[in-house]
Amino acid sequence: MKALAVCPGHAHSLRLIDVETPSLDEVPGGRGVLVRVLRVGVDSTDQELDAAEYGQAPPGDDYLITGHEGFGQVEAVGPAVTGLAPGDFVVATVRRYGSSLFDRIGMPDMTTDEVHLERGINLRHGFLAEYYVDDADFIVKVPALLRNVGVLLEPMSVVEKGIAQAYEVQRRLRIWRPRRAAVMGAGTIGLLAALVLRLRGLEVTVLALRPPPYLNSDLIERLGAKYVSTTVVPVLDASRLFGPFDIIFEATGYAPIAFECMQALGRNGVLVLASVTGGEHRAEVPVDRINLEFVLGNKAMVGTVNANREHFEAGIYDMALAEAGSPGWLSRLLTHPIRGLESYRELMATLKSGTDVIKVFCEVAPLPPMQYAVPR
Ligand code: BGC
Ligand code: ZN
Repeated sequence: MKALAVCPGHAHSLRLIDVETPSLDEVPGGRGVLVRVLRVGVDSTDQELDAAEYGQAPPGDDYLITGHEGFGQVEAVGPAVTGLAPGDFVVATVRRYGSSLFDRIGMPDMTTDEVHLERGINLRHGFLAEYYVDDADFIVKVPALLRNVGVLLEPMSVVEKGIAQAYEVQRRLRIWRPRRAAVMGAGTIGLLAALVLRLRGLEVTVLALRPPPYLNSDLIERLGAKYVSTTVVPVLDASRLFGPFDIIFEATGYAPIAFECMQALGRNGVLVLASVTGGEHRAEVPVDRINLEFVLGNKAMVGTVNANREHFEAGIYDMALAEAGSPGWLSRLLTHPIRGLESYRELMATLKSGTDVIKVFCEVAPLPPMQYAVPR
């Protein structure tokens, strides 16, 4: 089968390769699921992999098949698999078990291991291929009504985990009735975070660099949220004007903003940091003020990465609510479909081009037509 792979350690090595189609018996105990890939989204992690800033090949291989935002259809299942059948739409989680206590209790997203096993990112092949096989434990069934937007489920799961973490941390308060939220960044993650927080009934202000109007600011306003350009209203002014913020979700990819968020956060508030920042930025920050306000305001801050099965399931639930309440909103995030694995150069160039790009994804195979059950 065809697949897209990088050669770890070599920059811009992404290429089309031909490898053996995986088979069900690669998974022990009859728990294998063979998935035919339909769509795969790409993000900055894929850019870092192609730039050889990150990512190792699986043991025994000298290449790494990329792609961690997969969406596909079950082709075949092993004899021990229940609850999944050929034809089902599915998404696979990304991280696989390491050796820490958290891995052993089924929470690899919370691993304390130094090395992370992640499909399409590190030490495990990903989904930018015609097929993949995995243990049914890692495969999440997606209802057919979400098939057009199912490729957004992996980024959605990252948002769901971040917001679940915030609510989990705030159980310290016995009663927490968050009213106002701020989301930093209006990319895919920022947009989805604004959606989820609106679905929870919060007043949401999204802060991002680019002055409105453009697609992303329009999408945010359609949720009943506010879009504010930080070139007009800096973060701290926004917290005075639209806060105090009970929750801030940081997803700009630019670490200095995290320190502004610490100051913009309201008393008893929680700050969720979700940007994976690979750089070496340095910044001067008012340490005494930040520290004092954090202490006197009983503020909390939590980092979040990856997601577990339950967060994929929460994502499905919220995506269904979104489709019911704002039909077509999620599809508008799918700005750049690129047809065929062989168009990988265009895939990466589009991802890099930046402007007016929300989600770039590879259409590995066409979505099959919707099948309706005909009553007899
Ligand atoms: C992925 C996560 C992953 C993280 C760190 C993100 O792009 O969506 O699943 O844990 O990168 O590798
Ligand atoms: Zn990602």
